[in-house]
Amino acid sequence: MSAAGAMKCRLLYQPLRTLASCVVWLAVALRAAAPSAAAAELPRVHLLATGGTISGGQQPLDAAGVTALVPGVKQIAAVSMEDVTRVGSSRMTPELQFKLASRINELFTKDPALAGIVVTHGTDTLEETAFLVDLLLAGDRPVVFAAAQRPPRETDTDGPRNLLNAFRIAASPTARGTGVLVTLNDEIHSARYVRKTHAIAVEAFQSPWAGSVGYVDAGHVILTRRPAARVTIATSRVEPNVDLITLTAGSDGHLIRAATAAGAKGIVVEVFGRGNVPPAIVEAVQEARAKDVAVVYTTRTRGGRVEVDQESRKVGVIGGEDLDGLKARMLLVAALGAGAATETIQEWVNRLAGSRP
Ligand code: ASP
Repeated sequence: MSAAGAMKCRLLYQPLRTLASCVVWLAVALRAAAPSAAAAELPRVHLLATGGTISGGQQPLDAAGVTALVPGVKQIAAVSMEDVTRVGSSRMTPELQFKLASRINELFTKDPALAGIVVTHGTDTLEETAFLVDLLLAGDRPVVFAAAQRPPRETDTDGPRNLLNAFRIAASPTARGTGVLVTLNDEIHSARYVRKTHAIAVEAFQSPWAGSVGYVDAGHVILTRRPAARVTIATSRVEPNVDLITLTAGSDGHLIRAATAAGAKGIVVEVFGRGNVPPAIVEAVQEARAKDVAVVYTTRTRGGRVEVDQESRKVGVIGGEDLDGLKARMLLVAALGAGAATETIQEWVNRLAGSRP
């Protein structure tokens, strides 16, 4: 090739080379940009804040303040938020609990792409609220309750860890179809069984006789079991006038009569052992039933199921199976609000207990 020809070739080759390296650079740059594009596609999780120790106790932080406690959430989910209320959970009421459950259903209906919902709640009545929400929850997307035993101002607070775990669970497809879940102390519990079993310990939330349904480890959500059968109740209101009475040695029925006189529409009686009830109580219960008050027996032993005696069965007492008193009360709050008949409520209990399909 002549010198002029070689020069011509080089002149043509140089821009081609530059173009090629531009293409390579562009490809690398696009690849590097991919993670941030993925970040924009993080699952969307909505936080509903209600107060409690997890948000500071006496003067609770709002939803934004609570979320600010867990900056790491930005790697897990795209978070939106709102306050439902800001109270210590000893001030929860069936009406407030129903407002929360209704808002959850509304959020899921309006936003089909919402991955899940996190609820921050005080520990004191968490097991009641979580179970009511479980009974009223339509659909299969996860709702996860998080709480804390130690407030954010303490250096060893458990709140941020629990909250971050709740976001992980709510964002996880693994948690779909499991009903309402509760997480503290890296454990995952089903709302159906969980109880606060200790006033101050960080491992206070347990599911006695049933066990947890999973755990969170190194950021991974691990569900070891699917919860047992669920019941979903559709209702536009709840019945707040439901009382819970625990029998003690010498109980004579005056509390049952007082509850009836005060306008209770339902009474849960935590009876002895596997369903033992002294005659004075049977009599008071029969009077309550004559006034159309729904009555459920559960055991005060906090484990095992009850058998309802013949006389009580005859007047329509509902056997609460292995539901504890607090859970049975929430069931009545929802079921009576929905106008359900005694037989229907008994069927729901049986399904929840796993004694009927
Ligand atoms: N008093 C608190 C409450 O709101 C206790 C807690 O959250 O741990 O239930």
